[in-house]
Amino acid sequence: MKLVIIGGGASGMAAASKAKRIRKDMEVTVIEGGNFVSYAECGIPYYLGGYFDDYNRLLHYPVEEFTKKRGIEIINGKTVTAVNPDEQVIVLDDGGKMKYDFLVIASGASAKAHPFGNVDNVFTIRTLDSAIKIKKNMNGSEICIIGDGVLGMELSSEMSRSGKKVTLISKHDRLFPKMDENITEDLIRDMKNRVNVVLGENVTDLKRNGDKITIQLSRQTVECDVCIYAVGIRPNTEFLKGSGIAMNEQGLVIADRNMKTNYSNIYAVGDCATSYNRITGKQEWHPLAQVANKMGRVAGSCIGGSMMEFKGALNTTVVKILDYEVGFTGIDEKIAVLNGFTPKSVTVKAGSRAAYYPGGEPIYLKIVYDEPSMRILGAQICGKDGAAWRLNTIETAIYGGMTMDDLFYNDLGYTPPFGPVWDPIVIGASLSMRD
Ligand SMILES: Cc1cc2nc3c(=O)[nH]c(=O)nc-3n(C[C@H](O)[C@H](O)[C@H](O)COP(=O)(O)OP(=O)(O)OC[C@H]3O[C@@H](n4cnc5c(N)ncnc54)[C@H](O)[C@@H]3O)c2cc1C
Repeated sequence: MKLVIIGGGASGMAAASKAKRIRKDMEVTVIEGGNFVSYAECGIPYYLGGYFDDYNRLLHYPVEEFTKKRGIEIINGKTVTAVNPDEQVIVLDDGGKMKYDFLVIASGASAKAHPFGNVDNVFTIRTLDSAIKIKKNMNGSEICIIGDGVLGMELSSEMSRSGKKVTLISKHDRLFPKMDENITEDLIRDMKNRVNVVLGENVTDLKRNGDKITIQLSRQTVECDVCIYAVGIRPNTEFLKGSGIAMNEQGLVIADRNMKTNYSNIYAVGDCATSYNRITGKQEWHPLAQVANKMGRVAGSCIGGSMMEFKGALNTTVVKILDYEVGFTGIDEKIAVLNGFTPKSVTVKAGSRAAYYPGGEPIYLKIVYDEPSMRILGAQICGKDGAAWRLNTIETAIYGGMTMDDLFYNDLGYTPPFGPVWDPIVIGASLSMRD
């Protein structure tokens, strides 16, 4: 029995390891287009930001862990260019073909490319290979980040921390519109003090000008030594076009709760596949590391013969920007309305520790809930001290289908150095109960 896996990232290696652990007799081959397997993409901003210079620290395991210890064959540097489900064959970029009994598509996503051709020192980031290239070329002190999504904000923060002069360019009229303005007001103020923020501008041209890169915007020109284009990602599924494997309009492979596609022996996991929204039950995109790992494990387990179901995700995102812990989970009011809920929200600004205990910082928290049922639907948070664990607490409540009442009575541990006796979470829940 032969299992072939396309992509050696988080989800692909999780699938390979799980299937092989259950079915020791199964022949498992991972085909990875890049030079590395099983590495921490999420650590790339810290590698680029100078926390460490040895990229090997981003590798979860040496390749021998898979080849020698786990008995998984790894083929690096070869890309799959086509899949033929009827013949159960994949085609490689060197023209070679490989038969499979089971196939896992774990090809991830790529950063969207800019439309101005190949310009030296203008980069996108996705893989470790791309990060190594950027680090090698990060000479000069001026860096431009285009895009103010989670990655653009994170990179601007890390690059400025490492001493670079950063310009952050956004097409939006306000920075980081992914989150509400009143939740991120301190963060945005500090970001504007730290980096040169250019708002409401579209990039109309990008070119090399001697040693510099010139970025032409609608109303001004910006120059820098290195530019990172971070305006979003797209699933790596173009090679599947025409294969008969069902994809949605975003180009994601449609996978069921076992991570199975419309072919019973083909699975899709990670950033290239749909997963279920825990609240709405809809199949959508959650391109996040934990989701990818779990999807991989589910697929590997099912292929190995031990059925598992992926129970859904909430798109929970946490990120460190400057000194802030920032994040969101669940659905916002707009999506809630589209799904038949009657959303209401509470917003809290409260201390992270007992007022008399040193080191406290404000926590900005918004909780969205469905008014008739009081079911918690989503949250946003921003603060310098203990914001991430609070978001994860609310995520757990959403995951468990809890109401605002449950959140109020939820027996959180209390001690002054870690929170006030009326924690921001409890205050938020109590506000919803006042009406
Ligand atoms: C800079 C950065 C920071 C991030 N930070 C976070 C974070 O803090 N938290 C979080 O939850 N998520 C974060 N993510 C996202 C997270 O890393 C991804 O969701 C996760 O790695 C997805 O795993 P995957 O297996 O689907 O894809 P990947 O890990 O991207 O692996 C896919 C692999 O498939 C290979 N491949 C693609 N096409 C082919 C082909 N045709 N043939 C052969 N091989 C192919 C690629 O080379 C790649 O190695 C971050 C991502 C980046 C880039």
